[in-house]
Amino acid sequence: MTESRDAETDLRRKFNELANIDMSDVHCDDSEQTNALSDADNFKLAQHQCKTLEHLWTRARTGSSELKIIGGLLYKKMPVNITSINEYALVVPQVFRHELITLAHENMTGGHMGCRKTKQRIEAYFFWPRMHKMISSHVRSCHNCQLVKPLKVKERQPLQPITIRTHAWDDISIDVLGGDLPLSIKGNKYLLVILCNTSKFVHAIPIPNLRAQTIATKLVDFFLLCGISHDYTM
Ligand SMILES: [Zn+2]
Repeated sequence: MTESRDAETDLRRKFNELANIDMSDVHCDDSEQTNALSDADNFKLAQHQCKTLEHLWTRARTGSSELKIIGGLLYKKMPVNITSINEYALVVPQVFRHELITLAHENMTGGHMGCRKTKQRIEAYFFWPRMHKMISSHVRSCHNCQLVKPLKVKERQPLQPITIRTHAWDDISIDVLGGDLPLSIKGNKYLLVILCNTSKFVHAIPIPNLRAQTIATKLVDFFLLCGISHDYTM
């Protein structure tokens, strides 16, 4: 919560400085104030010169109820569906938009907000035409986010149906256990292990060696007893 509030304060400080709005809850020393005024002048100039805002200036000057000019700066009435403490959103000229999105997208601890949160943070204070599209595009193409983003479902291999066997010994796994087992009285030192994957029943057959003929003989005996299986895992 504290990190989020710090980042929020940083965002508000930066752009309220740009717009030269009095932020009574943010402390600025003299040097910061000097930069802020200069930034605010640049912002004001850019707002007046921005081609993408010409139609909004015209609407504000012709008495639009949505757009207002306050202190030489252009504002747009905050839509009712947006949660904000501000009645008006500051209209952002093109040259400042990229910096603003970057600031809102990356918080102070290096974390990166998703599209929804980045939009929410920006629209509570600012407006420009087609801002949602630009924010989405910025977040989607963010290099850091690309490196850590989880795989989308469509990028995963599709799930394959598996056949569920319902009869014992229809699906078996075969392995050999031994090498360090003690020699039995009958001369066996290995175990041919057959696991039923359906019932989990384990059948172990003692064998004296790992020769193919020995194993094949024991398997034939087993199949004669339990029937031929459909699936084998060796
Ligand atoms: Zn990012």
